[in-house]
Amino acid sequence: MRSACRAARYAGKRLGFVPTMGALHEGHLSLVRAARAACDIVTASIFVNPTQFGPNEDLAKYPRSFERDCELLEREGVELLFAPTVGEMYPAADGSAGPPQDQSLADRACPELAEGSVRPTQNTWVTVEGLSDRLDGRSRPGHFRGVATVVAKLFHAVEPDAAFFGQKDAAQVAVIRRMVRDLNLAVKIVVCPIVREADGLAMSSRNAYLDAEQRKRALVLHRALLRVQELAEAGERDAAKLLASGREVIAGESSVRLDYFEIVDPDTLEPVADISSGTLVAVAAFVGTTRLIDNILLRSA
Ligand code: AMP
Repeated sequence: MRSACRAARYAGKRLGFVPTMGALHEGHLSLVRAARAACDIVTASIFVNPTQFGPNEDLAKYPRSFERDCELLEREGVELLFAPTVGEMYPAADGSAGPPQDQSLADRACPELAEGSVRPTQNTWVTVEGLSDRLDGRSRPGHFRGVATVVAKLFHAVEPDAAFFGQKDAAQVAVIRRMVRDLNLAVKIVVCPIVREADGLAMSSRNAYLDAEQRKRALVLHRALLRVQELAEAGERDAAKLLASGREVIAGESSVRLDYFEIVDPDTLEPVADISSGTLVAVAAFVGTTRLIDNILLRSA
């Protein structure tokens, strides 16, 4: 992967990179299209990164559709696809690079899962202090350490000029931006808007876990965000009041369990008291056992 990417860059091409965990939908494809528009060569990666999942999370059942993903990426004209094995991304202590290369595509997407949940060993981590413990990082200890570490590894493999991320994962965006700044990485981070279903549900690979009833209930996340936006547009600046109204909307859907509903600075993820200077309204909630996230940005007054 590194030599293919280097060859492109040596030929004077601008390289765009879209990291994903696969099970692709229009949200992912919007990043690919943004990369296509801004760069000469587009690389995507598909890697279900075990180190960003907690021990009781959905790593084993995370949706995988590698062959369909390849077709979608091909249709979008993606030139290079990086789909490493867990062994390649997290080499064993003896330096071996994991399983051989001639396995089926489905196994290649996450070979360890066929034999249970082997978790990689790793002594070196990228930890973005402070930010990693906020929002999703508070609910999912170790999640952003896994994210920052794998994104650093992917950046190292691909060496992109620009990397494309979705606003859908707003806390992830803050963590990656800070990592890039703190480690002086020469990659431009481009953030693309949230792609939604027609009824407002933010697209997510995890929406596949929802049954029809849960799918309807899940709309409460977006409804709560819209309520906050409406009040903010009507002039309410007090974050506590806005939060109360958003949380009330969520509470109205009794089967949905709120994880967090917060109004924070989009760069530091610290709570703000007043929304005058541009803030992120972020929500995470469980619909059944499925944890969904969504957010909106409120512009400065
Ligand atoms: P994932 O495969 O969930 O790790 O997501 C890969 C990238 O796609 C991340 O940068 C996500 O923020 C982005 N993404 C996921 N869902 C959406 C969406 N609905 N709209 C825009 N970007 C998204």
